Amino acid sequence: MKRLLIIVFMFLPFFAILAQERQRPAQQSEPQQYPARMTPQMTEFFTPEVKVIQPADVVGMPPSDAIILFDGTDVNKEWEDLKGNPTKWIVKDGELVCVKGSGPIQTKRKFTDFQLHVEWKTPAEVSGEGQGRGNSGVYLQGLYEVQVLDSYNNPTYVQGQAGSIYKQYAPLVNASRKPGEWQSYDIIYTAPRFGNDSTKYFTPPRVTVLHNGVLIQNNVSLRGPTLYIGIPEYSVRKHGPGPIQLQDHGNPVAYRNIWIREL
Ligand code: MG
Repeated sequence: MKRLLIIVFMFLPFFAILAQERQRPAQQSEPQQYPARMTPQMTEFFTPEVKVIQPADVVGMPPSDAIILFDGTDVNKEWEDLKGNPTKWIVKDGELVCVKGSGPIQTKRKFTDFQLHVEWKTPAEVSGEGQGRGNSGVYLQGLYEVQVLDSYNNPTYVQGQAGSIYKQYAPLVNASRKPGEWQSYDIIYTAPRFGNDSTKYFTPPRVTVLHNGVLIQNNVSLRGPTLYIGIPEYSVRKHGPGPIQLQDHGNPVAYRNIWIREL
């Protein structure tokens, strides 16, 4: 009798499973789920860790990982003229001011993809009109101009006003401040990539611009280098990293607080 009981107990789990399976014949016939059912953890990653940086106390000032291109002091540390000589632009009261006829200035460093912050001011005393009023420009990789202009009550062609990608894209809105007031550009730039054909972009340069904190260029794809006369597409030539340039258009436009983050 004892032995019989032991045998019954031994087989009890088996009978239990059998009975359970019989009670759910529908489930048994279901195909196995593939891929396996996902869990929340399957889409949660912990590496590589995100680099910690220190943001500035005031928005617009450089975070800890920025390269300072102009902080109100020595312009010749980071900038030069197009021949590699010290620039004739002057630093006065912490402002970097364009001197008519001295030519553009450019960074000694070259960049590919970046976030750039630039503050600029057109003369308080208004003179000239259209393209002749407070004209300068920020050239990305030395080729693609984000227009700087006094566009406060100053009509001109729309792809030439402040915040335009010159002769390619008008800004989405005119967020200009009055002449003599400081303004800012925050520019996010993705450099072009080239394939085998050196005269065509594999992927074109892309630019986003905030003017005084307002989105005015939303990830636009550039057609080619900035041209005063001509069709940008015809001037595409393969290039690598390039400098930031500031344009001398004959007007004493001032700059300050220029910094960049390589992406
Ligand atoms: Mg210009």
